[in-house]
Amino acid sequence: MAKCGVCFRHCDIKEGQIGFCGGRTVKNGVVEAVNYGRITSLALDPIEKKPLARFCPGSMILSVGSYGCNLRCPFCQNHEISWSEEAKRSARTADTISPEELVNLAIKTKAKGNIGIAFTYNEPLIGYEFVRDTAALAKNNGLKNVMVTNGTAELSILEEIAPYIDAMNIDLKCFNEDWYSRVLNGNMRQVISFIEKAAESCHVELTTLIVPGENDSDDEMRSLSKWVSGLQNPNGEGVPLHISRFFPRFHMQDRDATDMEKVYHLADVARENLEYVYTGNC
Ligand code: SF4
Repeated sequence: MAKCGVCFRHCDIKEGQIGFCGGRTVKNGVVEAVNYGRITSLALDPIEKKPLARFCPGSMILSVGSYGCNLRCPFCQNHEISWSEEAKRSARTADTISPEELVNLAIKTKAKGNIGIAFTYNEPLIGYEFVRDTAALAKNNGLKNVMVTNGTAELSILEEIAPYIDAMNIDLKCFNEDWYSRVLNGNMRQVISFIEKAAESCHVELTTLIVPGENDSDDEMRSLSKWVSGLQNPNGEGVPLHISRFFPRFHMQDRDATDMEKVYHLADVARENLEYVYTGNC
């Protein structure tokens, strides 16, 4: 038995068993990423799709995902690789790639406008060792590194990867501790600390998915954007906020997609406090 120190859950994992997130195990008494180098998705995407609006706009980035997640959002848009039965199948069938192979692929795709590697699609931090090793190699080869994350990890994990990461999009799924823990099985305090620390070392943008009847009040958006307004990126600019439209998916199909007018309205509310506000999925 060993304790995983990656996120707030601090899972006690027995030898050969798998942690809550599906991405970590214990081998010879030591916790390690069972999803190291195991990839389920690989695509050359516009950087705006991450979404990043104010980091190398107009460029492309080689985007890679593995499997597993340490949250349990009932509306997950990537449930096939995060925490469903399909995700367990994905874990069995995922391809394997080494950091060297991935960096070589990223270099080869420079001709198509690629600037580097984005660790995305599932939660990259549960397999942070692959992010760290690959991003270090990519940086040595003049590539940029991006991470798209739920920000639910200890600061010691962030410190290990921060020297190599150029930009992050971090989910701030709501501004309500109860909803974070009760509905998402997460921990808002850990996310808040992670965001504050990340913005000290790299370009950070945030994403909030607006779920009808859950996190869509003016008051909550006002509190959230007020808190974001206290952050600053290393270039001295304020941290951008992406406000995104929910679509019924996975275990949350009991309501319609977020009304687009609602998304635009909440963006206006956020603009009371923030300079850079973008809408997504509209
Ligand atoms: S990263 Fe996974 S195994 Fe580690 S504490 Fe979090 S949920 Fe548990």
